[in-house]
Amino acid sequence: MIVDKSMAVHRERMIKEHLIARGISDEAVLKAMGDVPREVFVMEGEERLAYEDYPLPISHGQTISQPYMVAYMTESLELSSEDTVLEIGTGSGYAAAVLSRIVKKVYSVERIAELATSARQRLIKLGYDNIEIMAGDGSLGWPEHGPYDAIVVTAGAPELPKALLQQLKVSGRLVVPVGSYQTLQMLVRARRKSGSDFTVEELCAVRFVPLYGAEGW
Ligand code: SAM
Repeated sequence: MIVDKSMAVHRERMIKEHLIARGISDEAVLKAMGDVPREVFVMEGEERLAYEDYPLPISHGQTISQPYMVAYMTESLELSSEDTVLEIGTGSGYAAAVLSRIVKKVYSVERIAELATSARQRLIKLGYDNIEIMAGDGSLGWPEHGPYDAIVVTAGAPELPKALLQQLKVSGRLVVPVGSYQTLQMLVRARRKSGSDFTVEELCAVRFVPLYGAEGW
C-alpha cells in the first residue's frame, strides 16, 4: 500500500488545530495520531477530507469517527505501553491502528463481516502486526483474550454492557457511549476498582451509530 507523503502536512495541521487546540495533551496519543495515515482508512475519493475534524462515511452505512473523538477516547483510556486493549466496532480499522501505536496488543470486534475483512487487509498492508480482528457481536466482548487493561466501544450502547465490565482487569477502564437510540449519548468511563466494584464517570455528550447485539440495541 502506498502512503502519500504529502499528507503529512495535513496530519500535522490536524494535530495542532483539532487536537492540541482542543485539549488533547497525552504525548503518546498525539504521536500515534501523527503516525497513522487516516487517508488510507477513508473511502476512495475522500482522501482530501481525511484530516478535517468530522466523521466520514465508510461502507455499509457506517462511519469513521472524527479525529478529535478518536484522540479523546484514546486519551480517556489512560493507556500504557504494556496494555492489552479491546475495541468494539472496528469499522475502517483506523482507531485500532491508533491504539496499536500506543499499547502492546489490540483486539477488535466488528459486527459486519465485510468491514472486519477489509479492515484486517488494510492493517496488514500497512504493517500493523499487533492487531487481531474478529467478526461477531462485540457487545459480548471477546472473553478468550481478556481480561483487558482497557476496552473502548465506538458505537452507542443503551446501557453499560455487563459482559464488557466483566472483561476488565482490576483498575481496567471501559470507555463507551451510552444513551438513547440514534440521538445523543453520554460518553462514560467505567473503572473496575475490585471484583464487583466499579466507578462510572460522565465525560461528554457524543453522537455515535448504534451498538447492535445481545447487549446493544
Ligand atoms: N472505530 C471505527 C473506525 O476507526 O473506523 C469506527 C466505528 S463506527 C463509528 C461503529 C462500528 O461499530 C461500525 O462499524 C458498526 O458496524 C460497529 N458495530 C455496531 N454494533 C456492533 C457490535 N455489536 N459488535 C461489533 N461491532 C459493532
